[in-house]
Amino acid sequence: MRTYDISLTITPDFPVWPGDPKIEFNRISKMEEGASCNVTHLSLSAHVGTHVDAPYHFLGGDSPTVENLSLSLLTGRVYVLHLPDEVTQITAQVLEQAEIPPRTRRLLFRTRNSHYWQNGERDFQANFVALTRDAAEYIVDHGVRLVGIDYLSIAPFDAGAPTHEVLLKAGVVVVEGLNLSEVSQGRYTLFCLPLKIGGADGAPARAILIGV
Ligand SMILES: [Zn+2]
Repeated sequence: MRTYDISLTITPDFPVWPGDPKIEFNRISKMEEGASCNVTHLSLSAHVGTHVDAPYHFLGGDSPTVENLSLSLLTGRVYVLHLPDEVTQITAQVLEQAEIPPRTRRLLFRTRNSHYWQNGERDFQANFVALTRDAAEYIVDHGVRLVGIDYLSIAPFDAGAPTHEVLLKAGVVVVEGLNLSEVSQGRYTLFCLPLKIGGADGAPARAILIGV
C-alpha cells in the first residue's frame, strides 16, 4: 500500500485568489531572541492551498459551515480521473466520455493543472481547468457526493457562482487545490480532513490517498 500526499504546502509565497489577502506567517515568539519557544501567527483566507468549501461559501444564510461537513463523505473510496492536457474545461460532455466507473461517490480530477504544482508555479493562473455548470449538474445527477480538483477553484475563473451553487445546493463536498501530479488514474481511499473552524465558509485540509 502506498500513501500519496495530495496536499499543497502552504507558504507565504503561495498563489492566492486575486483580491484575497496574501498569506502571512509572523513569528511572534522567537527562541533566537530569548523566548522559550517559537510561535507563529498565521494570517490566511479559509480558501488557501488544499481546502474544502462549505455550502455557506456560496449559499450563505443558514447553510452548513465547514465544521458540520460529513466526515463520512470526506473519507472513503475515491476514483481519480486523469484527463488529458488537451481538456481545457470539464463539461458534461467530457464527463460522459470519460468512462467514470458506475456508482462512483467520490471523484477527483487530475488535469493539466497539476503541472503548475509540479513546476513550482508561484503566480496565480486564471486559465485553470475547472467544471462548467453542466458538468456540475452531471455530477449531481450521477450521485457523486464529493468532487475534487487540482487548482484553487472547482469553477472557471470568470464563472464561479453557477458551478459552486449547483454542487453546494446538492450537498456535494467540494475539495480544491489538490496536487495530483504523482497520482495515476484509478481507485484509492481518500482521507481529507479540513480544520474544524467554527462558522467558516471553508478550511484548509490535509488530504491523502492510499492506493495499491
Ligand atoms: Zn474554496
